[in-house]
Amino acid sequence: VSRIAFIGLGIMGAPMAANLVKAGHEVHGYNRGAAPRERLAEAGGTAAGSVAEAVEDAGLVITMLPDGPDVSAVCLGEAGAYAAARPGALHIDMSTIAPEVATELAEAAAARGLRALDAPVSGGQAAAVDGQLSIMVGGSGTDFDEALPVLQAMGTTVVHVGPAGSGQTVKAANQLIVAGTIELVAEAIVFLEAYGVDTGPAMQVLAGGLAGNRIIDRKSAAMLRRDFTPGFRVDLHHKDMGIVTAAARRKDVVIPLGALTAQLMTALRARGDGNLDHSALLKLVELLSGRVSDAR
Ligand code: NAD
Repeated sequence: VSRIAFIGLGIMGAPMAANLVKAGHEVHGYNRGAAPRERLAEAGGTAAGSVAEAVEDAGLVITMLPDGPDVSAVCLGEAGAYAAARPGALHIDMSTIAPEVATELAEAAAARGLRALDAPVSGGQAAAVDGQLSIMVGGSGTDFDEALPVLQAMGTTVVHVGPAGSGQTVKAANQLIVAGTIELVAEAIVFLEAYGVDTGPAMQVLAGGLAGNRIIDRKSAAMLRRDFTPGFRVDLHHKDMGIVTAAARRKDVVIPLGALTAQLMTALRARGDGNLDHSALLKLVELLSGRVSDAR
């Protein structure tokens, strides 16, 4: 048993923290507002009254927050995690943020005698609940080895992918592939419906061939029902498309399909659908195809 601070108890953080409790760790958690902290206490953790209170005496500090500015505010603020952490503590940021912010955090941690890993996740809420996340880790190999048993309480595929920032770079690639795949599945669904094809069996046979993919497996049934309950919100994927397009541009890498998908995600969000699941890209394909009237 070791003491772990867990900051950010949202859709993903709450079940991840609960899995750490189940694995026998002493988890002190903090989130804005009382409700998420009470849920952690019900799951067997300890509700802390502030970031500093959660972090004191913890050997490991985990953050699972929306975006880079949130992680920077929590870590670098005056009463923040880095000021309150005990010397030598290891920070694992599991949020999805820009790779260069992850690198800056690793440098800030080192300057204060702390250590940092970037360890963003893939798999969504269901995998977070089941402890089956895919976790891509950037940072030193020694720190990775130390963190591995804890990460394995939250994920089944845990891979060290390189130095600080590398985890976030791999996650940016992940989000590029996921968004593009959702868009293509959405286009295929609207196309098939226009021809009156029975889409259930169509998805089944597509899933068995070279076109098969996890989006068809996990999301097409809900897409066919037009159920866009999140899951992973359009707002968050919009953030991630901003990360991957900016990071690609910085290295002069051209990602035309990614850039187009980023624009479609922006359009969906601008229409007011930021809180829907990212599979709602289907709505936009229907609209662009004139297959639904725009009641808005
Ligand atoms: P969320 O919005 O449900 O959770 C974030 C939590 O952080 C919220 O409860 C919020 O109140 C809290 N918070 C924000 N700023 C804070 C602060 N300064 N102090 C204390 N608490 C603060 O988001 P989520 O879906 O859990 O996602 C978290 C991260 O994981 C994001 O970076 C997201 O891109 C990534 N992610 C999400 C999924 C998914 O399927 N939801 C999958 C993979 C990765």
